[in-house]
Amino acid sequence: MTRIAIVGGGISGLSAAFTLEELRRAGADVDYRLYESSPRLGGVLRTEEVDQCLVEAGPDSFVTEKPWAADLCRSLGLGDQLIGSNDADRKTYILTRGKLVEMPDGLMFLVPTKILPTGFSPLFSWKTKLRMTRELFHPPRAVDHDESVAAFVERHYGSEMVDRLADPLLSGVYGGEAANLSVRAVLPRFAEMERTHGSLGRAMLAARKKMAGASKKVAPPLFTSLKNGMQHLAESVVARLSASALLTNAIVQAIQPQPEAGGWLVSAGLQSDQFDGVIVALPGPAAANVLRMASPELSNELGGVQYSSSITVGLGYDREVRESLPPGFGFLVPRSEGKKLLAATFVHNKFPHRAPEDRALLRCFFAGSNAESVWTLPDEQIVGIVRKELAEILGLRGEPLFARVYKWKSAMAQYGVGHLERLERIERLRQKLPGLALAGNAYRGIGVPDCVRSGRDAARQLMTQPNQS
Ligand SMILES: Cc1cc2nc3c(=O)[nH]c(=O)nc-3n(C[C@H](O)[C@H](O)[C@H](O)COP(=O)(O)OP(=O)(O)OC[C@H]3O[C@@H](n4cnc5c(N)ncnc54)[C@H](O)[C@@H]3O)c2cc1C
Repeated sequence: MTRIAIVGGGISGLSAAFTLEELRRAGADVDYRLYESSPRLGGVLRTEEVDQCLVEAGPDSFVTEKPWAADLCRSLGLGDQLIGSNDADRKTYILTRGKLVEMPDGLMFLVPTKILPTGFSPLFSWKTKLRMTRELFHPPRAVDHDESVAAFVERHYGSEMVDRLADPLLSGVYGGEAANLSVRAVLPRFAEMERTHGSLGRAMLAARKKMAGASKKVAPPLFTSLKNGMQHLAESVVARLSASALLTNAIVQAIQPQPEAGGWLVSAGLQSDQFDGVIVALPGPAAANVLRMASPELSNELGGVQYSSSITVGLGYDREVRESLPPGFGFLVPRSEGKKLLAATFVHNKFPHRAPEDRALLRCFFAGSNAESVWTLPDEQIVGIVRKELAEILGLRGEPLFARVYKWKSAMAQYGVGHLERLERIERLRQKLPGLALAGNAYRGIGVPDCVRSGRDAARQLMTQPNQS
């Protein structure tokens, strides 16, 4: 019998456990135990029902393009619970000199592919629009070193593009700043486009042309979620696992290889148990802590992955407010606008299933230094800041029917410049520790689909080569 410990009960650890459970049910001789330090499983996947609204405390959905989370849902029998974002109403605004400006049609992340909408958009100055035209003649370049997303975007489109688009788009996903994130790790497709085409604009147009020729299928919704919220995914995994294998309130202090007996010793509280393999499914700094004794070098590398804290605030309003809000999915706030808020989602438009027709549901987001600056304030004061900024941005002065504040300390990984090289060093060090697998958002993607994939891969890796380097 192969005994495997999983450390961390977020979606990465749960996906690993589910994969082992599937293998066990298919006849594999495997047993597992999952350790979670908090009283609840699911990590940052948390949904609350408030006044008939589904309020997401952590992630509210995942990108459809990455299949692993939706595949897991289908394996759990939740295929009929998957919902898509209401893309017919997809519009995102950027706060520009105090006013909400719609992102122009044809903008593919930050690459303009339609001349007229971008040409007439008040989002960019004439100088930036000229840069966009010049960008079409950018020569191919074999990038042999990493650089920040800000430096990359600035080379192509200038600094206004960094401030108005790259930074707000990335802070909505990573809670971080374009100046601190690695282009190779965060926007690998764009780095590749530069290598092959030089110009991102030309590369995007070529890709669109190819896709238009290949199929006339209706594009799937950009985001997918679950009717009853993201927590339903974690709960459905838990329901499939053996209850006695799940330990909550179990803080793992250390995991150590056992050179003589073989395998690993996992210490949680006063108890230590022996396993053949361990899956560490923790954020980088927590993984660094538990692995300090096993490998100080690996621990240093894991601890070097930076994390940012974030706060989400869910606000419910009545029909009058709903009718007064602009259409679309919400808005992003460039840092240069001097606000605390980084983004707000009009959830009732993006996922209409999440709020009854007579309610508006807003999800407001702070991260990084903006989140740190309000971290210690009581919830009422944080709600007060959000309401003040919503009044300035949207003219929204109504009393909320409810407000919920959720704080996530150091939960979002920031892939800094050189992240891929760090991953290579991590992998080399991990291979020196047979029976150890790593999963989670510190490595190759922070979204839910990437975390699901990392957990499932880690479980398969240990089952196919439990004791090999
Ligand atoms: C506010 C917010 C919004 C997000 N929005 C989206 C989104 O819309 N779409 C998307 O795809 N992704 C989103 N993400 C990212 C994504 O949700 C996370 O990266 C992912 O869920 C992380 O899962 P995980 O299991 O790796 O980590 P976690 O969920 O952090 O789980 C790790 C678990 O390990 C436990 N733990 C820590 N230390 C120990 C220890 N020593 N012993 C035992 N257990 C321990 C923790 O208690 C925790 O439960 C968002 C993240 C946040 C914070």
